[in-house]
Amino acid sequence: MTKSEELFERAKKTIPGGVNSPVRAFKSVGGTPVFMERAKGAYMYDADGKKYIDYINSWGPMILGHAYEPVVKAIQDKAAGSTSFGAPTELEIEMAELIVSMAPNVDMVRMVSSGTEACMSALRLARGYTGRNKFIKFEGCYHGHADAFLVKAGSGVATFNIQTIPGVTAGVSMDTLTAPYNDLAAVQQLVEEHKGEIAAIIIEPVAGNMGCIIPEAGFLQGLRTICDKEGIVFIFDEVMTGFRLAAGGAQDRLGVNADLVTYGKVIGGGMPVGAFGGKKEIMQHIAPLGNVYQAGTLSGNPIAMIAGYTMLKTLKDNPSIYKDLEEKTAYLHKGLDSVLSALNTPYVINRFGSMISVHFSDKPVNNFAAAAAANNTLFNKFFHVMLDNGIYLPPSAFETWFISNALSMKDIDETVDIAKESFNL
Ligand SMILES: *Cc1c(COP(=O)(O)O)cnc(C)c1O
Repeated sequence: MTKSEELFERAKKTIPGGVNSPVRAFKSVGGTPVFMERAKGAYMYDADGKKYIDYINSWGPMILGHAYEPVVKAIQDKAAGSTSFGAPTELEIEMAELIVSMAPNVDMVRMVSSGTEACMSALRLARGYTGRNKFIKFEGCYHGHADAFLVKAGSGVATFNIQTIPGVTAGVSMDTLTAPYNDLAAVQQLVEEHKGEIAAIIIEPVAGNMGCIIPEAGFLQGLRTICDKEGIVFIFDEVMTGFRLAAGGAQDRLGVNADLVTYGKVIGGGMPVGAFGGKKEIMQHIAPLGNVYQAGTLSGNPIAMIAGYTMLKTLKDNPSIYKDLEEKTAYLHKGLDSVLSALNTPYVINRFGSMISVHFSDKPVNNFAAAAAANNTLFNKFFHVMLDNGIYLPPSAFETWFISNALSMKDIDETVDIAKESFNL
């Protein structure tokens, strides 16, 4: 028995399913989740001391690799001055000013403690601002686990093929309208059918919770036009893409403007942080300035803020990081292409910036249905062989891989070599 197997048996007695977030459980790929002990740079080490090259990077935050020294040092220094005040601090202003300086269309920002909180608060704000109840989301997009978003959601909800979620009432779900990703006509039809009732359209501008799905040319611009015409708030969920695709996130990278933007993951440098922001015209409706209530005991927590601030400042001051990330991801893409093209199995590799995913599909994977129709049993096998050989990939075809800048070309070569061996099964 490995240490992870022992720990998993023990964990299951006091933690539901042995994990504190479902996608960690390996339920769909089978086997035992690996319990980690420490990590540095591109590598993680499990409870048995085995080393892994990490392609999850805490699901995004570790964009500069694990235990990035300036962040660790900043946290250590800050902790000595108390871990929480529950009162305003100058550091929160510095964080807000930094985000506003980096993110297009963000005049004001409110800090929260997770991406879930950011998205549910942004939706409430859009509803409060427009006085409308319904909103549109896309099949396979994940916006955290607030009730309203769990309709046709991606990530774990898709991985475990959960159709209806006990505990989410029909009354709540009724106001969630869904359309396939990249299907502008479907959105147009929903808007016609529910004229004047739709508060918001929320989207992952590059989707990462059904594998990596790229918006087709004109799709996001088309949504922008619909929102402008119908007075709908356009929300970019940049929890994954924010500060990852560019210092200004997907808005910057894709040249499309959002009305509200949500952040998480990278924004906290590994601490529990989220944020939502946007134009002052909308943000001024948030309490205590307006009546849309939103609050948090630990929001703007000093440890979380200094970790996030240090991370974002590094990204802002070193734009070459994005070029490096892109080169590394392209190199991985090329390597995987050379391995997979030699096989008799159809495959698709989707890549955008430092997000990449492999689908064993004979059709383009441009929405959830296509991702779900792929040979995900083969993906699961691939995952396990890679894991056995020290390559830590997301345990589901419905997740993007996250590249960190700590990864070296040599690490990528090693990964590609192992992929090659794994297919000689
Ligand atoms: C991870 C994620 C969330 C949820 O963030 P949490 O911090 O896990 O609550 C929301 N939206 C997107 C796009 C995500 O990738």
